[in-house]
Amino acid sequence: MNDVKRNIEIIRERIDKAATKSWRKPEDIHIVAVSKTYPAEKVLDAYNAGLRVFGENKVQEALEKIEILSSFKDIKFHLIGHLQTNKVKYLKDKFELIHSVDRIEIVQEMQKRFSKLNHIQDILIQVNIAREPQKSGVLPEDFDELLEYVLQANFVRLKGLMLIPPFFDEPQLNRDNFRKMYKLFEKIKTYTDVEYLSMGMSDDFEIAIEEGSNMVRIGTAIFGKRG
Ligand SMILES: *Cc1c(COP(=O)(O)O)cnc(C)c1O
Repeated sequence: MNDVKRNIEIIRERIDKAATKSWRKPEDIHIVAVSKTYPAEKVLDAYNAGLRVFGENKVQEALEKIEILSSFKDIKFHLIGHLQTNKVKYLKDKFELIHSVDRIEIVQEMQKRFSKLNHIQDILIQVNIAREPQKSGVLPEDFDELLEYVLQANFVRLKGLMLIPPFFDEPQLNRDNFRKMYKLFEKIKTYTDVEYLSMGMSDDFEIAIEEGSNMVRIGTAIFGKRG
């Protein structure tokens, strides 16, 4: 058994525990295997261990891997990194879900490009819930305005929310941020149909699941430390 396969087994067990602890079904927690910086062969190791959804943070790198792996029809890619408006034109039919929509400008560009292509893109809104300066994600005070804009845009379909929390050596320190995200998620669920709360990475996914995450983005714990 290779390292990736073994790592995935361990992660599945840890997800099972965290889900059970919070009275949720383990199969309701979606794993996005973050393959950024790793070659397509590593993606296939994870694929052979049963994973199908992969996360990339750079459009160019993702497009190359998508091309190499195009014969595997059931592999899906998610874009999880900061998105520039000039990259929107490359996105059609490449990403099952874009996690990083954080400003009206990017939705406007999506509307403009995707309306011409008749492409409807599933997206998440990335929230800077901890109000970190210089960090991507919409600020809580600007969230309602962005949400309203997204909901009237007919070529994007809102599927949920995404968080990249502040970095702490002690992941427990983000519990409160995860809670705030869950609250916001529950709030928007009352008037629009959303499915995914994307939060939790290698160091904190159990805490994120305990606080309501149903989509975890795991890189190093699957593939090892990035070079
Ligand atoms: C790299 C990355 C991850 C995965 O981080 P790990 O600590 O390697 O699990 C998750 N989400 C985003 C947005 C990332 O850029």
